[in-house]
Amino acid sequence: MKVYKVASIPGDGIGPEVVSEGLRVLEAVARRDGGFRLEVTGFDWGSDRYGREGSLMPEDGLDRLKSFDAILFGSVGSPAVPDHVTLWGLRLKICQGLDQYANVRPTRILPGIKSPLEGVGQGDLDWVIVRENSEGEYSGHGGRSHRGMPGEVGTEVSIFTRMGVERIMRFAFALARSRPRRRLTVVTKSNAQRFGMVMWDGIADEVAREFPDVEWDRTLVDAMTVRMVRDPRALDTIVATNLHADILSDLAGALAGSLGVAPTANVDPERRNPSMFEPIHGSAFDIVGTGTANPVATFWCAAQMLEHLGEAGAAARLMEAVEGVCAAGIATPDVGGGSSTREVTEAVLDWIGGSNILPTAVGGVGR
Ligand code: ATP
Repeated sequence: MKVYKVASIPGDGIGPEVVSEGLRVLEAVARRDGGFRLEVTGFDWGSDRYGREGSLMPEDGLDRLKSFDAILFGSVGSPAVPDHVTLWGLRLKICQGLDQYANVRPTRILPGIKSPLEGVGQGDLDWVIVRENSEGEYSGHGGRSHRGMPGEVGTEVSIFTRMGVERIMRFAFALARSRPRRRLTVVTKSNAQRFGMVMWDGIADEVAREFPDVEWDRTLVDAMTVRMVRDPRALDTIVATNLHADILSDLAGALAGSLGVAPTANVDPERRNPSMFEPIHGSAFDIVGTGTANPVATFWCAAQMLEHLGEAGAAARLMEAVEGVCAAGIATPDVGGGSSTREVTEAVLDWIGGSNILPTAVGGVGR
């Protein structure tokens, strides 16, 4: 039997509440499949550790993660610690340190979930946003000087490298080609940012020649927000810089019904290091302890993780269970339901176990 080593980093806020449920459904789906097993190791990294020990993760944290096949991450962020400290101290440290340069964010309207867009239902919005995850606006280049003086300066330099742009473009074109519509939109801002973004556009042109069977176009990021709202059916695969895709994918999550259902994968496509799977939402301290955190985003992440590990059958079964439960209206309050985190999980576990009496729904992990 195959054994996959999974590192679990629940993190802060509702992270532990949804990751524990994610691990339960993973275990159930593995048991049902019978062909593999997950060996899970938990890490208590996050803001509480920062409070106790002065860092969110230990010095040798990255080395410890390297021996795993995949990482399931909850969320990081706490009212007690500045956001840039938590983000750079854990999530970005892992993504950059393990060179997980492709951030993949599938967005679909799940059955039973209502989009805030009028007339847009299931099947009308089916996107995958590819976010450059290793450089760009979040390279960490910049500085601050003359603090507190009238002439205080802060710089935040965007770094675009040929290697970084080429590899994300190639990944996005290949992903677009693997989807039925073979369509890619390259998001840019080269009208105002005339160096890095013009290079980004030029490299898109070059890489596109390797993919003559992919239909593609280019859109300014501001116009893209309008297209996403006005004409969601016309979009399929989307590639954007670190900052642009960060913003666009929150919009995508909201248009699909809730941040609570949106997953993301931080992938090292070359598989030199483990990839990391996490819900898009943050720690949501306003609902911690209420038992109402939506676990669906984490379940979808778990399915993405299984697919990445090569367990496509188990991934599809898990998504079928999640979509079946959503279709039956068993949902948390953020998507208009009246069920708790636990009740949604139990329903998914029942479905996986085969004892459901819920209507059948279609599966598919989204990439
Ligand atoms: P961050 O940690 O990034 O600062 P946040 O705590 O501000 O994030 P977000 O995750 O961005 O919160 O979500 C905004 C709001 O959406 C939350 O305050 C919460 O009310 C709701 N929300 C987010 N995720 C979920 C979820 N899984 N289930 C239910 N509601 C959610």
